[in-house]
Amino acid sequence: MATWLRGGRLYDVVEGGYREADLKIERGRIAAMGGTGGPSADDRAIDVAGACLFPGFIDCHVHLCMPTEDGNPDDPWGGKLPGETAIYAAQAAERTLMGGVTTARDVGGWDYHEIAVRNLIDRGRLKGPRLYCAGRLLSVTTSTIAYYRGMYDEANGPDEVRAKARKQLAMGADLIKVMATGAITSTEYEDARAIQYQLDELKAAVAIAEENRKHCAAHAHACDGIRNAALAGCRSVEHGSFGDEDAYALMAEKGTFLVPTVCVHSALLADNRASANLLPHIRERYAATEDIHLGNTRLASDIGVKIAMGTDAGTPGNHHGDNMQEIERMVTGAALTPRDAIFAATMGGARLLGREEDLGSLAVGKLADVVGFAADPLADIHAIRDVRFVMKGGETARNDLG
Ligand SMILES: [Zn+2]
Repeated sequence: MATWLRGGRLYDVVEGGYREADLKIERGRIAAMGGTGGPSADDRAIDVAGACLFPGFIDCHVHLCMPTEDGNPDDPWGGKLPGETAIYAAQAAERTLMGGVTTARDVGGWDYHEIAVRNLIDRGRLKGPRLYCAGRLLSVTTSTIAYYRGMYDEANGPDEVRAKARKQLAMGADLIKVMATGAITSTEYEDARAIQYQLDELKAAVAIAEENRKHCAAHAHACDGIRNAALAGCRSVEHGSFGDEDAYALMAEKGTFLVPTVCVHSALLADNRASANLLPHIRERYAATEDIHLGNTRLASDIGVKIAMGTDAGTPGNHHGDNMQEIERMVTGAALTPRDAIFAATMGGARLLGREEDLGSLAVGKLADVVGFAADPLADIHAIRDVRFVMKGGETARNDLG
């Protein structure tokens, strides 16, 4: 028995246009696109007439275990029961799927609760996107470990980095995440323009990842940290805020993806409660760096750096399920075209994950991950936040069309 999506407008993320065609779905994959007759008597038909249909979106930077509502990242689960974190992550995963994200990469969990959520999603016990998880991220000794007791694993020097990278893999991680520079959502003592892991430590993490057929993602704001991450062979640079032409040119040359996460600033400022509760030094940093971050994302794109969409959902006010706001912000803030931003959020993510065969576009043979809108996001990018239909692997997660 096949499922048909009938009457939709299918968006081609590579060519950049729509065509009207029915989608035939069998065994979780796209079996045909138009021109093959209609459903047989046993088939199930879903009317999506006039809807704009896209491949499932891929968010390459989330933190499912991080609560976004209270605004303060300082030890958010301190004093709480471990189960609360796990339940929060499960609910965050469901919200993420309903928001149009059918595949997500978690680049810093909390005591491996997100890996349990991944496993239960895979077994059909929970609703959520297909997850790639880093487990705990690797960090040098820093004051910020006190903020994120369940997210950070401390490792100094290449030997400790190798050991802690192996530990993440033993806990079920799909990738390794490292801190190449300081963070913005950190203590007063930490500077996002400072180097954390040095080149030899980054190379150690990349080697363990690659020897295990995984990849390494590097958090990097500072320009020299971006360069180190690219030189070490990290698959992606997260944030990339303070790069310059040379650093982005090096990323382009090495094929390093940039995951900009530009919506962190606007998401925080749009949420009065989260913004009011946030530690003042962090709020000031968010306000002070937004224009630089947006301008540099544009610069990186112009230089030819490959871009994959990532929200950093989990930062204060950056709510799970509002992931489409990053695509909107890449257009309204960083001046990418809607077509380029949507490409980054589909094919860009698929290429970063090495899943181009299965994900990233509507094509025969790929997994039937389909997201639908009543209005055309190419004509007005704000429409990207009004998701009406989500299918993952041929299973309808929501249908609010019509
Ligand atoms: Zn993050």
